[in-house]
Amino acid sequence: MRGSFEAIAHLLFVTFVIMPQTPKNIAVIGSGLVGALLAIYLRKAGHQVTVFDRRPDIRKINFSGRSINLAMSTRGWKTLQGVGLEEKVKQIAIPLYARALHVNDKPLYFQKYGKESQAIWSISRGILNRKMIDFAESEGTEFRFDEKVWDVSLPEAKIYTGETEKGEWKEYQFDLIFGCDGAFSRVRHRMQRRSRFDYSQDFIDVGYKELTIPPNADGSHKLDKNSFHIWPRGKFMLIAMPNINGSFTCTLFLPFEGEVSFERIKNKQDAKNFFEKYFPNVGKEIENLTTDFFNNPTSALVTMKCYPWTYWDKVALVGDSAHAVVPFYGQGMNAGFEDIFVLNELMEQHGDDWETIFKQYQVLRKPNADAIAELSYRNFVEMSSKTADPKFLLQKKIEKHFAAKHPDKWVPVYSRVTFSDAPYAEALAIGDEQEALMAKIMDIPNIETLWDSPEIEKKMLSLLDEFPIGNRK
Ligand SMILES: Cc1cc2nc3c(=O)[nH]c(=O)nc-3n(C[C@H](O)[C@H](O)[C@H](O)COP(=O)(O)OP(=O)(O)OC[C@H]3O[C@@H](n4cnc5c(N)ncnc54)[C@H](O)[C@@H]3O)c2cc1C
Repeated sequence: MRGSFEAIAHLLFVTFVIMPQTPKNIAVIGSGLVGALLAIYLRKAGHQVTVFDRRPDIRKINFSGRSINLAMSTRGWKTLQGVGLEEKVKQIAIPLYARALHVNDKPLYFQKYGKESQAIWSISRGILNRKMIDFAESEGTEFRFDEKVWDVSLPEAKIYTGETEKGEWKEYQFDLIFGCDGAFSRVRHRMQRRSRFDYSQDFIDVGYKELTIPPNADGSHKLDKNSFHIWPRGKFMLIAMPNINGSFTCTLFLPFEGEVSFERIKNKQDAKNFFEKYFPNVGKEIENLTTDFFNNPTSALVTMKCYPWTYWDKVALVGDSAHAVVPFYGQGMNAGFEDIFVLNELMEQHGDDWETIFKQYQVLRKPNADAIAELSYRNFVEMSSKTADPKFLLQKKIEKHFAAKHPDKWVPVYSRVTFSDAPYAEALAIGDEQEALMAKIMDIPNIETLWDSPEIEKKMLSLLDEFPIGNRK
């Protein structure tokens, strides 16, 4: 929100002098995307950094290019750019300029994401993670793989690692600890046992499974490679994003239980029937479709919220350990990267005053993490239950028509989240204003026939003048 702490802080950042920091001995728990990038930032600030991960070194595991892929957007790129990595990472990414909608009984339909050059970028999580660890290592980060952190002493910044929970533990002493150990964080687990620590986790009733569309024999992609492919089917959907090796990683989102659900697909024949019935144009593309279906795990999706995210000047949670969101806005990693960007700005502003850095970090980020959690959940509801509602589709058509005529007056929430670095909380608030405005428009008699008339356009313009924030650029 304009005038909010975040906006004021932003103004302050523009004018402050960069404060150097006294080198500290820092532990980062988790070598995922967030932990590896944070390590790079901390090394650039002159700290000694050791990253612990319970898993083996991902660079030494053979994963044949098959892995989940992610969409990187403006917030992620901005944070990579901060340490000079944007262009290097773009070399392993593919720009997606449009959604390709595979709707039953309709021709393939392309929906541009935004203005001409605006794109989200498809990147293999595994390839990106390997690269990030390489970059962090070349900056002088020490990695300790296969070393699980079981416990943390928050006031002493000590961590305890070992083979098993009940076995012997090794103790390490640090000056600061960053918990980048994901949605089921062990570091957070210790914080949760303190009084007045808020925590909630909500699983949705939809799970997901990864499947692969292999490349053509000549290595080319089987579908348009510059689009994000979606097969919306009401309560479930399939999506596909391209990989640089010519394949597509598909994700099937499907309820765990119910009429069409994971529990109903019990054997290879069920899986074959399911794909033939609901995704006839994909079924034959998916290599070893049924084998894939039964070889790959079905995973759950969770929204996790907690607070506070920091403990004194000793421990901070960053990324999914602080805020896990359902993936329907493609922002989890982007939000985690943005945490790092904000942390770094605060480090540059407050130097050795880690207590202030941590306090401000959580105050600045928490409302935005909650906002992207809400937006991601709403997108899930929208995708699963509203895409077949004619009134909802008409509303979207009116919004699109109006935005095309008045791009300065109507920036869709999707663009505010994906192609901007303005606070997520602002995108959510403006989205709510736009919804309230559209509710009035949708109540107009005969809106079905009047939707693209000058009368409706005039009404929208006059309503925008009434709303304090709805017409912001
Ligand atoms: C299906 C799906 C699609 C997604 N799509 C997108 C997308 O398009 N765009 C986007 O921005 N985000 C997306 N996300 C979200 C994104 O994957 C996460 O937000 C991001 O990976 C979080 O990174 P992280 O480093 O915080 O946590 P993680 O990736 O979970 O990494 C945590 C690391 O900590 C290690 N660890 C855990 N516990 C311990 C311990 N006790 N000791 C030592 N090490 C430990 C783990 O081994 C792991 O390496 C998606 C998520 C899902 C599930």
